[in-house]
Amino acid sequence: MPPAETPDILLIRQTRPDVAGRLAERFRLHRLEEAPDREAFLDAVGPRIRGLAVGAMCPIDARLFDRLPQLEIVASFGVGYDTIDAGEAHRRGIVVTHTPDVLSDEVADLALGLLLATLRQIPQADRYLRAGRWREGSFPLTTSLRERRVGILGLGRIGRAIAQRLEGFGVRIAYHGRTPQADVAYTYHDSLLGLAQAVDTLIVAAPGGPGTNGIVDAGVLAALGADGVVINIARGSVIDEAALIAALQAGTILGAGLDVFANEPQVPQALIDLDRTVLLPHVGSGSHHTRAAMGRLLTDNLFSWFDGKGPVTPVPETPWKGQR
Ligand code: NAP
Repeated sequence: MPPAETPDILLIRQTRPDVAGRLAERFRLHRLEEAPDREAFLDAVGPRIRGLAVGAMCPIDARLFDRLPQLEIVASFGVGYDTIDAGEAHRRGIVVTHTPDVLSDEVADLALGLLLATLRQIPQADRYLRAGRWREGSFPLTTSLRERRVGILGLGRIGRAIAQRLEGFGVRIAYHGRTPQADVAYTYHDSLLGLAQAVDTLIVAAPGGPGTNGIVDAGVLAALGADGVVINIARGSVIDEAALIAALQAGTILGAGLDVFANEPQVPQALIDLDRTVLLPHVGSGSHHTRAAMGRLLTDNLFSWFDGKGPVTPVPETPWKGQR
């Protein structure tokens, strides 16, 4: 039985046994999903909760904060936190942490896999063989990564890891973000449309949220041209999904490789029906190795905070002013 001063932590959509196991060594844990009556449960334990351990893409907003008057920290699993109202947390003095860096290589690896799978139609070729069609004739020729000009939307931690890998493939690399980066040799475009006009392959690696909602729109897609290919390993909301479907159906662009969707886990049937799409169920960081590292970083944040040492990896909006 933990001592009375043991902080109370609420787990929301956080089901990893290693995370819960480590947290249980130090904290008193409560699991929202196990409560038969969520409202009654929050009435009972909400006033005692000082920390949250939440799963990826978990909605955390003012309504929940209202139920947790002693809340000090939200420790989120994943680097993207567009479903957490970090601005509202800031106003209430609540720290928000995420798990950057430990997943960048894994997501970049997946992005390159998705890029090659989309260009060379690897899943389609696999389906062709399994259907016994090879005996009838060779698989049709595909487009290629050779001589492609690749644009990265969002040259952050993951975007840079993608660019480093692309260097090995010998393609030209350009990028767009709100600010040019002094320490890279890739060509900077100050507008997304300008980037799309200069490249034929767009890799989306910018965060979701109001600032990026639907910025890959019909005009950007059209600018990629008829050989255009879009890869999205960031958030589905960054692409205007209806415009993407229309562009693919009309042949305005050639193909798309998508790990993320606007309304996950719902995927538009139109995307599934198209032959020139490669679709993945949001598996960018989904390896045992990387998910375990993300879990360790989440728990490190809670341990560090309640040890009085501040958060390890706070999000930029968080009220924590300490420098680590
Ligand atoms: P990051 O280091 O913060 O990089 C984000 C980049 O996006 C920055 O270079 C930023 O540059 C740019 N950006 C931000 N707002 C923008 C805007 N309005 N217009 C254009 N560019 C903008 O984040 P990260 O660690 O690389 O992660 C990127 C995203 O990947 C996450 O937010 C998450 O949604 C997604 N992700 C997906 C998976 C998956 O499983 N598929 C896994 C992990 C992460 P400026 O500040 O200069 O604009």
